[in-house]
Amino acid sequence: MAQRIYNKDFSDADIAKLCELAPIANAPQHRPYVCLWVTSDVVCNLHFQASEFPEHLRSDHGVVGPERAPFVCSWFGCFNEMQKESIIRHVNEQHLELRYECPICHERFTRAHTVQKHVSERHQGS
Ligand SMILES: [Zn+2]
Ligand SMILES: [Zn+2]
Ligand SMILES: [Zn+2]
Repeated sequence: MAQRIYNKDFSDADIAKLCELAPIANAPQHRPYVCLWVTSDVVCNLHFQASEFPEHLRSDHGVVGPERAPFVCSWFGCFNEMQKESIIRHVNEQHLELRYECPICHERFTRAHTVQKHVSERHQGS
């Protein structure tokens, strides 16, 4: 049974639209995060929005070069080695713990599209 928590007069199309938009509205991209990237034994400690992080890594921490270049994640306490192309996602998921929240039951997921799938499987339909 679909949960009509927004407005009982909403049509199915309205609900579908909301479910489509809600994960974006809930996306944690705009929260302030603290950068714990370590450079020469000093923690960066700058606050930034998650969406700014790729640029911050590139311009302030020198995460540049070929996608497949070996790279060490210098995040405090991490120091895992990986390819440069994996760093941004790694930091997002492991260190920022970016999570997308279901707007209806508030269960949390690591990917936006997983939330959309969850919403359509769990909260829509009859
Ligand atoms: Zn930083
Ligand atoms: Zn790391
Ligand atoms: Zn849910």
